[in-house]
Amino acid sequence: MEKYDAIVVGGGLAGLASGVQLAAKGKRVLLLEAAGVVGGRTSSYDIEGMNVESGFHRYIGFYSHLPLLLRKVGIKLSDILTWEEKVHVRMNNGKPLVLGLAPVHGMVKTIQGFIGNQDYLSVKDKLSLLPFFIKGMMDYLTRPKQLDSFNIKDYAFKHGVTPDAFHQLIVPLSSGIYFLPPDRYSAYVFFGLFAPGIPKFYKMRIGAFLGGMTEIMCQPMADWIEQKGGEVRVNTKVDSLIYEDHQVKGVRLSNGESIYANHTILATTLHASKPLLEQHFKEEEWFKPIGNLPMMPAVCMQIELSEPAYPVDITTFAPLTCMASFAEQSRTTFQQSKGRLSIILSPPEKFLEKKPEETLKEVLLDAQKIGLDLKDKIIDYRQINHVYDFHSLEPGHQQLRPTQKTPVDGLILAGDYTKQPYFSTMEGAAYSGIKAARLIR
Ligand SMILES: Cc1cc2nc3c(=O)[nH]c(=O)nc-3n(C[C@H](O)[C@H](O)[C@H](O)COP(=O)(O)OP(=O)(O)OC[C@H]3O[C@@H](n4cnc5c(N)ncnc54)[C@H](O)[C@@H]3O)c2cc1C
Repeated sequence: MEKYDAIVVGGGLAGLASGVQLAAKGKRVLLLEAAGVVGGRTSSYDIEGMNVESGFHRYIGFYSHLPLLLRKVGIKLSDILTWEEKVHVRMNNGKPLVLGLAPVHGMVKTIQGFIGNQDYLSVKDKLSLLPFFIKGMMDYLTRPKQLDSFNIKDYAFKHGVTPDAFHQLIVPLSSGIYFLPPDRYSAYVFFGLFAPGIPKFYKMRIGAFLGGMTEIMCQPMADWIEQKGGEVRVNTKVDSLIYEDHQVKGVRLSNGESIYANHTILATTLHASKPLLEQHFKEEEWFKPIGNLPMMPAVCMQIELSEPAYPVDITTFAPLTCMASFAEQSRTTFQQSKGRLSIILSPPEKFLEKKPEETLKEVLLDAQKIGLDLKDKIIDYRQINHVYDFHSLEPGHQQLRPTQKTPVDGLILAGDYTKQPYFSTMEGAAYSGIKAARLIR
């Protein structure tokens, strides 16, 4: 009977990170991915003739674990990313609010952003943010559980943020990043997203991908695993864990095949992990918080256009519209397109129910409000629903996230929902996979 050192279930960044680390250690590793391509929520693929991505992604300059992995597999950041030193916030069809977010790489723009933009935010509005950020960071460090009981809207008003500062800055930095309206967005998650960046503030800037994420990042990671003697199988769905004699001994595939290994790393989404774990561990205390950890969706719309929708490819937030964040991408990720808009929609639940043509109608109306007239430029479009792909970032759920180490012999967890400080990000997923692989000696 063939036996691997480790089976990794799921070929998203968490699974790929585990696979890379284990292959680097010389372990015999088999990575199994249910979809036709690797990358999971960080992937690019074809839907009925239109090349799409799982949703537009930004790499944050202070990430440290993901770049380590990329370096290991021979990917240079400068080959796959282009850097943005500022973002746009659009409240109306006039001039956008330009926020510099790169204190070292784009110092002038960053300082201008804070000192300037007086027509959007007065000095009083800006000053109202200071005690809020200081108190939030202190609570993040000293009272995480209490902070996680607040939503960011209540927390901001409790600490004196003015309504203008709230709508024009806090909303883009919350809903724009995690699609949730501020009254459902955990204050702990809000500050936690920025906290790891504070000691590395000098690295802060935003990377946009220069191609499909599967092609330029995830597939090369999978190829590297194979070059090191590992195996990667796509279109291969795991149906159950093989649990015998109080030990996970491998997995059973949907085609009935059984595969054995000393260790199994379950690196799927929370939604896919739950039923696999419940088959054997439903009554076990340790696994109950996972069962109670709710999930949330994300919905994206990608529109192929006859010309660019926006003068530059840049991360743009449009609070007060359904376009939580968006970017024109025809000069960056989709260079074969004449125009390409990738939009993350908020609130996602509203759009899950809608047909793509209905969603498009709402997007067009809101786009018009912020000065983008897309109507006569549309060539094609796709709606991408991530129905249960995220663990909930609403208040009160962070303490339910499990560690990578489980009490069951042979079973390890990975994935952005497992405990690590970067929440649902590429960095969080990569770090969870690295932590999982470290548990295998
Ligand atoms: C729209 C959107 C925008 C985002 N923007 C950003 C951003 O700007 N910056 C950032 O850092 N992060 C961003 N993220 C978050 C980031 O993509 C995720 O945190 C990360 O990709 C999660 O990786 P993962 O490996 O934990 O999970 P996933 O990528 O979901 O991987 C899990 C994998 O398991 C596979 N699987 C499931 N069940 C089975 C089974 N039974 N058998 C075999 N395989 C299975 C799935 O097909 C999937 O490939 C965004 C995500 C989305 C959706």
